[in-house]
Amino acid sequence: MTLARTWSVGLAGVSGAMVEVEVDMANGMPGVVLVGLPDAVVRQSVDRVRAAVVNAGATFPSQRRITIGLSPASMPKQGSGFDLALAAAVLAASGALPGRAVDQLVLLGELGLDGTVRAIRGVLPAVLAAARSGHRQVVVPAANADEAGLVEDIEVLPAATLAQVIGHLAGRAPLAPHVRGPLPPAPPVPDLRDVVGQAAGRRAVEVAAAGGHHLFLTGPPGAGKTMLAERLPGLLPPLDEQAALEVTAIHSVAGTLPPEAPLLRRPTFEAPHHSASMASLIGGGSGQIRPGALCRAHRGVLFMDEAPEFPRAVLDTLRQPLERGSVTIHRASGSATFPCRAQLVLAANPCPCATAAGDAACTCSPLERRRYQARLSGPLLDRIDLRVDLPPVTRAAWLDDLEPPEATAVVARRVAAARGAAMQRLAGTGLSVNSQVPGRLLRERWAVPRPSLRLAERALERGALSVRGFDRVLRVAWTVADLAGRSVPDPDDVAEALGMRLQRAAA
Ligand SMILES: [Zn+2]
Repeated sequence: MTLARTWSVGLAGVSGAMVEVEVDMANGMPGVVLVGLPDAVVRQSVDRVRAAVVNAGATFPSQRRITIGLSPASMPKQGSGFDLALAAAVLAASGALPGRAVDQLVLLGELGLDGTVRAIRGVLPAVLAAARSGHRQVVVPAANADEAGLVEDIEVLPAATLAQVIGHLAGRAPLAPHVRGPLPPAPPVPDLRDVVGQAAGRRAVEVAAAGGHHLFLTGPPGAGKTMLAERLPGLLPPLDEQAALEVTAIHSVAGTLPPEAPLLRRPTFEAPHHSASMASLIGGGSGQIRPGALCRAHRGVLFMDEAPEFPRAVLDTLRQPLERGSVTIHRASGSATFPCRAQLVLAANPCPCATAAGDAACTCSPLERRRYQARLSGPLLDRIDLRVDLPPVTRAAWLDDLEPPEATAVVARRVAAARGAAMQRLAGTGLSVNSQVPGRLLRERWAVPRPSLRLAERALERGALSVRGFDRVLRVAWTVADLAGRSVPDPDDVAEALGMRLQRAAA
């Protein structure tokens, strides 16, 4: 045989795309030609494959003219995941392996020079694509077996070395199919019960969870901003199967999937540092485009602590993707689109020196404090429905009643009921949580009775509330009513919503 073909999978964003690998062997000037938009890493693949084949005890056909085609030719090929398929196709074309053994097989994996099969990123979306296009068998790196095993309707053959793959394809020593074990229990989430005092903060995350509202927490260091934010994912409903696969695929491509928990079944929590680069926050990197923290927080929570310290450009860049629910990253080598329907939690200290309010150590002038807060003004803050000012924790604990704080499980049940009520009301609109409802729709279709609105209207007249701010109050009031099991917000619900808005200066 001088012509052989096999299959591998390339990645476009977080979905896999089948790639046919064809190898033609001819007489003539010895050498290897690679066609079909390979990137630099794929081009180096030939050298890795050559060394790996030799070290696996097989013969690389160095005296022949080898043409390797990757198709569809128009799709950019990135990364090292094609190595294994290339090796198999070359060996089949040279006659060392039967062509029939590889022509319907999908092979994924990077090769070490010594012939080991190394783990790659993006195995889950790749195996999903293979199963969807009707392939029955896929060879994956042994280290990725559990992740690949999440996909049904395809046989997963884990391999640790190229020699094992050759033995399998030659029919000498078949690879043992991966057996799907029970999924390990999801790791425990931080509990709301641990947050003592801070009743206002606990209520704020409950309302945020119930309505899907973005949240802005201000307060001195130690007030529990991070603790509260970390507990928001635990209040959100667990991911359904479709969502779990979607989120897991993103983390698989990002290379952040914990090996012990191959399927992410809980909303994730991402907390990028303010010194993080634009690429690590939004997505990018060299070679294969990786999703950033924003996309890894898809269907989960993106927490930005010390938000005023983030570069203004970064904050401004977040607005559109958050609104649209996806982000597209363009590069010379191609572009990738990632979903990013994340819930945002911003946190800020009241002043740049980050001492407790009223602390004698604070030397910031009122102007400095105002400037610090002003760094967050603008279009991003405009999208945030909830703004809560947390008191210093000692005072908060004093003011709090003495009952032990509610556990996450208890609050999560209330959140689930409230989300159910909102979903029912919004049925047929394509919307599912209150934070998504546009202002106009809110005023026309679900008008809140005038008597309930008196307080908010007065704030509007006083200029303490903008028209957009008024809409946000309405959205939150609906969530508060949903949590209380009321079919329409009453004056108290609107008052509470207003309170989660006016804590800071004019909104
Ligand atoms: Zn200060």
